[in-house]
Amino acid sequence: MRRKFLKIAGASILGFIFYPLTSLANNIVGFKKKLKKDESEYNIINPDLTNEQKIIMFEEGTERAGTSELNYEKRKGSYHCANCGAKLFESTAKFDSGTGWPSFTEAIPGAFVTKTDYSFGMKRTEYSCANCGAHHGHVFNDGPDGGKRYCSNGLCLLFVPES
Ligand SMILES: [Zn+2]
Repeated sequence: MRRKFLKIAGASILGFIFYPLTSLANNIVGFKKKLKKDESEYNIINPDLTNEQKIIMFEEGTERAGTSELNYEKRKGSYHCANCGAKLFESTAKFDSGTGWPSFTEAIPGAFVTKTDYSFGMKRTEYSCANCGAHHGHVFNDGPDGGKRYCSNGLCLLFVPES
């Protein structure tokens, strides 16, 4: 209980630090409100995607830390691409990273393609859906037990509970 509270508090502090940058753009980090390109240039499969989802998935935006309800999702099931529905993660790979973004130790084999991203002066590995090309997040080598940490934007994921 106490640990959970501390993690929620941590996410709130992170959100507060980002607030001056994000207050103009809802749940997206930065000032971006509109897509830079015309929607027809993107592989939009799900017609119900919101503007925020499109900015993240097609222009590599980032949702504000601590804003995704999936941070608190603990049920058994699987996580799918919000654009094309491809299965990306099993709930057994999810862990509480305390970063404010849904995090996973491993992806479904072949679910993602990766590329090196040099934005914001950092060298990071970006991953996107192998099926539709939508951006999902960045993967780091500081996961539990020396493994990986897939840091995902919750807005790009759909959780399907095990039936
Ligand atoms: Zn996809």
